[in-house]
Amino acid sequence: MEPAMNAMTESLTLAAPPAPCGLPWYAEQAGEVALFTHAHGQRLPVLIKGPTGCGKTRFVEHMAARLGRPLITVSCHDDLSAADLVGRHLIAGGDTCWHDGPLARAVRQGAICYLDEVVEARKDTTVVLHPLADDRRVLPIERTGEELPAAPGFMLVVSYNPGYQNLLKSLKPSTRQRFVALSLGYPRAEVEQAIVRHEAGVDDALAARLVRLAQALRRLGDHDLEETVSTRLLVMAGRLVAAGLPLGAAVQAAIVQALTDDADTAAALGEVVQAVI
Ligand code: ADP
Repeated sequence: MEPAMNAMTESLTLAAPPAPCGLPWYAEQAGEVALFTHAHGQRLPVLIKGPTGCGKTRFVEHMAARLGRPLITVSCHDDLSAADLVGRHLIAGGDTCWHDGPLARAVRQGAICYLDEVVEARKDTTVVLHPLADDRRVLPIERTGEELPAAPGFMLVVSYNPGYQNLLKSLKPSTRQRFVALSLGYPRAEVEQAIVRHEAGVDDALAARLVRLAQALRRLGDHDLEETVSTRLLVMAGRLVAAGLPLGAAVQAAIVQALTDDADTAAALGEVVQAVI
């Protein structure tokens, strides 16, 4: 018998968080809404590439609500196995009963199943993803010998961050080539400004200053950073300012200190901050 499923890896959302118009608010970058809609209509799985905090999760939440599908999100980690996704037998009150994992539930419900950072998951997960991601659209359940056909509306969506790629953690061509791929980056300035304004509740002038800062920091290139400033960090800085924190303190906490633990690098970033805002 296996241990209970890791509850931390999974969340079920129908349409959260609702925006005024009823959909999670999403500012489009470049035609991804139409692409996703057509992929769903054609029953094709989608692979979303992009750096952390660039809007991948919000995009999937928006599309699930827009297409009227439930959304089941799984944050993949290096211990996540095929059984975590598919399900397992558990003992309850002396009886053994089968418990669907999040992927099996999505397949039965015709939900959108979003596997965030799929390259982190254990390699045995490809065995269950391949037959779901191609024309077969079935989920093999090894433990019960079942082959579960995907309900209409089911869609497999995976994401990964190419910046974190290494040889051990990359998608095999046989996996990649089952997906329609779409690449998101940080949005262009006017879109990012609208996102910061909307998400942080700040005025246009402050949103523009934060976006200018992001562009200056991104121009620095790697600069000993694993990853540069994301839209998410700009939103966080904006929220702190909207709550009453001075801009300098907000930027230090939400951006500079979030990007590095190294004092010299933090000082170098601080100089850019001084020069731009
Ligand atoms: P990722 O999944 O790529 O790490 P998220 O989707 O969680 O990033 O985005 C982080 C935050 O940034 C969101 O909660 C949202 O506030 C904001 N955001 C980023 N891009 C967009 C966008 N295009 N439209 C609306 N909000 C966005």
